[in-house]
Amino acid sequence: MSLFGSKKQDATDYPVEKSEAEWQAELSPEAYRVLRKHGTERPGTSTLNAEKRPGTFACAGCGKELFDAETKFESGTGWPSFFAPIEGGVATTTDRSLFMTRTEVHCADCGGHLGHVFPDGPRPTGQRFCMNGAAMVFRPG
Ligand SMILES: [Zn+2]
Repeated sequence: MSLFGSKKQDATDYPVEKSEAEWQAELSPEAYRVLRKHGTERPGTSTLNAEKRPGTFACAGCGKELFDAETKFESGTGWPSFFAPIEGGVATTTDRSLFMTRTEVHCADCGGHLGHVFPDGPRPTGQRFCMNGAAMVFRPG
């Protein structure tokens, strides 16, 4: 829910809309579980953890560009981590599950769940976008 009340955060607000059956058919089981079911991959399992080439990390659901490789850093968590998103790439909502209040990060275009953002990141932003590699694809270049 937006603080300003007018914009709802349900799936019908996103530019990219697909049925659950369509998502399930298009995505890998792990990407579907993360993006559409708010799952979390096991830490250290994504090949994107070790990705150090220049390029762009995009949404595995719709291809939206989310993070530039220049903002990636080694957080030691076992999840791909970034200190800033590409402008307009992601949106956030408040997640009160698991008895915690966290800020959920999702794709701005399809609403797919990507991970969470925490205020303990490095300079210059002090933010740590803790992402699921399964929710993203890497485009070198
Ligand atoms: Zn997306």
